[in-house]
Amino acid sequence: MDVYGLLGNPVGHSLSPPMHEAAYAELDMDARYVTFEPDASDGAAAVEAAETLGIAGLNVTIPFKQDVLDAVEPDDLARRVGAVNTIDFSGEVPTGHNTDVAGVQRAFERFDVPLAGADAVIVGAGGAARAAAVALVTDGADVAVANRTVERAWELADDVGADAHGLDALPDLLADADVLVNATSVGMEEDVSPVPADALHADLAVLDAVYSPLETRLLREAAEAGATTIDGAWMLLYQGVVAFERWTGADAPVDAMNAALREGL
Ligand code: NAP
Repeated sequence: MDVYGLLGNPVGHSLSPPMHEAAYAELDMDARYVTFEPDASDGAAAVEAAETLGIAGLNVTIPFKQDVLDAVEPDDLARRVGAVNTIDFSGEVPTGHNTDVAGVQRAFERFDVPLAGADAVIVGAGGAARAAAVALVTDGADVAVANRTVERAWELADDVGADAHGLDALPDLLADADVLVNATSVGMEEDVSPVPADALHADLAVLDAVYSPLETRLLREAAEAGATTIDGAWMLLYQGVVAFERWTGADAPVDAMNAALREGL
């Protein structure tokens, strides 16, 4: 039996186990997906332990995504994002990957939203924003980053080749934009949006990285403005799909994984 897992703290409410196990069931694979919750300082030790125990693959989440960079051989994308969310133990040394980037790209692809040549605005400058920025820049979008703490926007924009702004620039930035990504946590705890409703319009495709709730205020107001809306579960789904395909070499049963994920949300 192949054992896969999620390394994070906390991981109790993660939807990765049902999502991946739905794929194993659909493809009749002898595999399990379990969660590991070591102390926050033990990320690198946990990777070593997983290798020793013969774990086939690990997903990595908060607070370990940066810590494990030193415990694996990161690929170019993981290096560019500065974070690893997927570890593959099949080679001589554990390799680190970042499938959040593909999660963003494939979510837009699923909704037939072209990124090449698009004017894109990312709100936020944390981990999700970094993955989104690398995704959009790599696919040929012209990216502006707007963040509450503008210094963090500068830093991210500098790293990926984008423009940086404060949140007050959003109405101007969005007027001619094709794509908007909310990569802040705004909208999770309260029914608030990081973007003024009157800045949204029908020519936008809006991806909200927040997946709980699925229908955030931003997505509700974007739909009211006639925009294409993409909820955070699509990004979550596709980062899992790409990790599954890397580990197993099989085509992921996307519909079964999506159904399991949405059932859990
Ligand atoms: P993070 O690194 O902590 O970054 C949080 C971001 O939110 C920062 O840019 C922060 O701005 C901004 N922010 C927080 N509170 C704010 C407020 N009240 N007003 C304006 N901006 C505020 O978090 P993260 O890991 O990037 O995650 C961000 C969100 O994406 C979370 O909801 C997470 O669940 C989600 N996410 C989803 C997926 C997916 O697959 N769908 C994957 C990863 C993350 P400052 O810099 O000014 O503090």
